[in-house]
Amino acid sequence: MFSIRKKDGLARIGELITNNGKILTPILLPVINPNKQMIHPNEMVKCGAEAFITNAYLLFKNSLNKEKALKEGLHKFIDFSGPLMTDSGAFQLMEYGEVSVTNQQIIRFQEKIGSDIGVFLDCPIKEGSYDDFNLALDETIRRADEHNKIRDPNNPILWAGPIQGGRFLDLIKKSCVEMKKKEFNVHPIGSVVPLMENYDYLNVVKMIITAKHYLPLNRPVHLFGAGHPMFFAISSYLGVDMFDSAAYVLYAKKDRYITVFGTNYLENLQYFPCICEICNSHSVQEIKRLDKETRTELIAKHNLIVSLGEIRRIKQAIIEGRLGELVLSRIMNHPSLGKLKNIIFNSSNSDFIEIFEPKSKLRSLLITDPILAEQPLILRYKQRIMDRFYCWNSKLVIGHEFQKLPSTQSYQVIKVSPLFGVIPAELIGVFPLVQHERIPMLFSREIKEYINKFLEIYKPKFKQIVVHPSLDLELKSLEKFEKFEGLRGVEKAERHHTLFAMIDYQFGKGVHKILNHKDINVERSRRTGILRRFSDDIGLLGTFRASDFTIVPTLRLANLLHENFPPPKFRVIADNESIPYVLKNKDLLAKFVKNVDFEIRCGDEVLITDENDRFINFGKAVLAAPEMIAFDRGVAVQVRH
Ligand SMILES: [Zn+2]
Repeated sequence: MFSIRKKDGLARIGELITNNGKILTPILLPVINPNKQMIHPNEMVKCGAEAFITNAYLLFKNSLNKEKALKEGLHKFIDFSGPLMTDSGAFQLMEYGEVSVTNQQIIRFQEKIGSDIGVFLDCPIKEGSYDDFNLALDETIRRADEHNKIRDPNNPILWAGPIQGGRFLDLIKKSCVEMKKKEFNVHPIGSVVPLMENYDYLNVVKMIITAKHYLPLNRPVHLFGAGHPMFFAISSYLGVDMFDSAAYVLYAKKDRYITVFGTNYLENLQYFPCICEICNSHSVQEIKRLDKETRTELIAKHNLIVSLGEIRRIKQAIIEGRLGELVLSRIMNHPSLGKLKNIIFNSSNSDFIEIFEPKSKLRSLLITDPILAEQPLILRYKQRIMDRFYCWNSKLVIGHEFQKLPSTQSYQVIKVSPLFGVIPAELIGVFPLVQHERIPMLFSREIKEYINKFLEIYKPKFKQIVVHPSLDLELKSLEKFEKFEGLRGVEKAERHHTLFAMIDYQFGKGVHKILNHKDINVERSRRTGILRRFSDDIGLLGTFRASDFTIVPTLRLANLLHENFPPPKFRVIADNESIPYVLKNKDLLAKFVKNVDFEIRCGDEVLITDENDRFINFGKAVLAAPEMIAFDRGVAVQVRH
């Protein structure tokens, strides 16, 4: 039911198909009180809402409205024809300790009123010991089993399987492992409201990170009661696809005015820092003078517009690949979020996100804080240089990132950088080396260790290593080295070394060896001097994509990769049923992917083979390897036409 259109790490623009229309994620579902709608859904649609969540239990308890909803259906009752999710009363169970409905009753009720996404009656608890949470989780799992048995398989409703366990991360893991086995379409993470109310964002973040490690990739993750928009970008970056919030109206009732930076009390405002329709057409003083009900409605609308605006900002950031930057700016806005910086951007979290991170981004990376040096794309770059560095000369010159060193055939050049560690001169155009801007940075202890480790590994490959005298950096790994003494030469390095360095960086160490070195001809653009394409005596082998300096293989190079490397290297192995289509240059759909090289990342150039390793086609991966396996909707590989 769910497919991905665009990704930025774990954040994704996706499409969830429901019985009453598509839900495009990330999405905020404003909460509607079914018995007392303060703002009509049409009014909220004007504010930017696309779907809603309401409470089936509150409807069930109100006998008049219950009959009405059963008779005319939920959509007519709410007066909204798009996707509607319903909650089960579990929140009321958490708040008040009991509810007057059974799991079976609320499941049937949601089926009958025609909800698009329903929730069984899970058991969240507000507080308690490990044992209390464990008991509640066991009961949730039991009810999930009951749900799977009694649900009507012919009803088009999608079902949500909530994750419980509170702040106890091994219980979150247990909950995910159990829920993954069952038939659900969406996984909300529950029990976060009490933590959010105490500004305990740290535990919420840890819960989301843990859940994302164990939940199936092809089911959207929903954060129950996500509340304040200043937390949306952070959750989205960690892989949350759906939010619901009643904050817009709950805050308004207390005269609290929401911004993405925090919340203001109306009485403290002199100006509205917003130009939405409400704030544009009323002064603060006018709103203060209004009666309570009108005032609440207007503030609620503003609060909603701000919350939905943040979701759009997140979507655009995903398209541009800049969600990390938005997250950092939100974190810096509020002290209660400040301590999240080191957990969201630390290397172990970034290592996990890296698996899902596309190869390059639409825009340059902006490094506005040293912590962004830990972002997934930079970790990937450093790992690849460490593993795949291409040596072609016996003499190595080391300089600083900003030093101009002549590049010649007589020696090989690397430059050291406080952000990237090591930059081989041949790879200077590769994303994100050129495509980044950053604040001035010092060499951290970690980056010095990285550079030294690199030199430890590669120094035996060189007979002579020369360090530029102005490079004021202690290189422990080089006990003795010569000082740079004006090496002569302005000749360009042979183009094929640039090509081979790029091939190894992109495809893997030593992959350049599949080309016959003597025959290779690399062409540069006459106008710009940028590498354009390369060929051998037989014909064209590949082109260089200018935007991120990626090598795009031709059919011949794809065949060479296939002949020279055994499966699963570079391969997406397709179900035989799909082969006739892929042969006709139709994109390979995720549902036909049988197996895949787990090194493949979104944006990589890949081979498509059948189950007997027959070469079928080649193209660009639009999903990461684990996603190709998990998803049964959407495209996995865009075939080259
Ligand atoms: Zn406003």
